[in-house]
Amino acid sequence: MRTIIAGNWKMHMEPTAAAVLAGDISRGLKDRLPVDRLEVLICPPSISLSAAHGAIDSRIILIGGQNMHAEPSGAFTGEISAGMLRDAQCTHVILGHSERRHVFGETDDTINAKVLAALKNRLVPILCVGETEVERDRGLTFNVVERQLRTGLMNVTETMVQGVVIAYEPVWAIGTGRTASPDQAREVHAFIRVLLNEIFRQVAAEIPILYGGSVKPGNVDDLLAQPDINGALVGGASLKADSFIQLVEAGIRSVERETA
Ligand code: PEP
Repeated sequence: MRTIIAGNWKMHMEPTAAAVLAGDISRGLKDRLPVDRLEVLICPPSISLSAAHGAIDSRIILIGGQNMHAEPSGAFTGEISAGMLRDAQCTHVILGHSERRHVFGETDDTINAKVLAALKNRLVPILCVGETEVERDRGLTFNVVERQLRTGLMNVTETMVQGVVIAYEPVWAIGTGRTASPDQAREVHAFIRVLLNEIFRQVAAEIPILYGGSVKPGNVDDLLAQPDINGALVGGASLKADSFIQLVEAGIRSVERETA
C-alpha cells in the first residue's frame, strides 16, 4: 500500500505566493524524496497551478486540482475541465470535498459524474466523504459515508477503482482544530475498507484511504499508525512549508514502519 501526504491549499496562495510556497516545499524535501511508496501532492487553486508546477521538482512532488467540471468543455463560465487539469500537469483532483458539498451544493450524483470524468482523463480522483457533526450526533456516520461512497463510485469498475483514492474527512474536524481521535478515525476507515471489499473485492485492499481534518505535525504520527489510514489530506497545515515538510517526514516514518 502506498502512503499519500496531500495538501489542499483551498482559496489561498495567488500565483506569486504559490510559486514561493511550492518552491520552499520542494527545496525542503529534495534530500528526503523520492521515497518508494510515498506520494507527496500539493493542490493549489487552479489559477496558481502553473506557477506552483514551475517551482517544484516534479520527480518528488505531484500537483493536483481541487475541483473540476464533469463535462470536457462548453458553456460553463468559471469552470475547468479534467483535460485542462491534465494540461496543467495535474495527476490528481480532489472531488466531493465537504466545502464543495455543503457550500456549493454538490450532490453525490454530480460528484460521481466528476469521478468518472477524472478517470476517463487519467486523473486520480481523491473522493472525499464524511459526516457533519449533526449526522455524527444522530448516529448516522456510517449511513452517510456509505451513501457518499456507493453513489460517488457508481459505474466505477474493479479496474478503474485502482486509480481512485478515498479521503475520510469528518466535516466537524475540517478547519476547526478538532481532530477525530485515532480511534474515531480508525473505526470509520475500517468501515470504508469493508465496504470497498464488498463492492470491489480483492482490488479494494490497494485503495488508499486518507484521513483529513485538522491534521498537524503534532497528531499526524498517531493517525498514520492506525490500520487503514494510508495518508493525510491536509488543509491549514499545508500552507506553511515547515509544517507540510514535517507532515511528509511523518509519511516517510510511516512507510519505513510498514516496510520494516
Ligand atoms: C481539508 O481542507 O481537506 C482539511 C482537512 O482542512 P484542515 O486540515 O484545515 O482541517
